[in-house]
Amino acid sequence: MIRIVCPHCHTPLSTNDLEQVMIAGHRSLICPDCSSVLVSESDESTEYHTLEEHFAEQPAHA
Ligand SMILES: [Zn+2]
Repeated sequence: MIRIVCPHCHTPLSTNDLEQVMIAGHRSLICPDCSSVLVSESDESTEYHTLEEHFAEQPAHA
């Protein structure tokens, strides 16, 4: 399980806790606590499936 900390409200989250929303036609993941957009799918890529890589640089263990 990948754990992240929201950079906005510092709530510990797992990627499964993030809420998926559509913003301007792009799938984005938002913090369920503060509704900040943490990850946004870009136009020309399929970066969504690399979410784990996106968070790989975050500390894996608290
Ligand atoms: Zn947050």
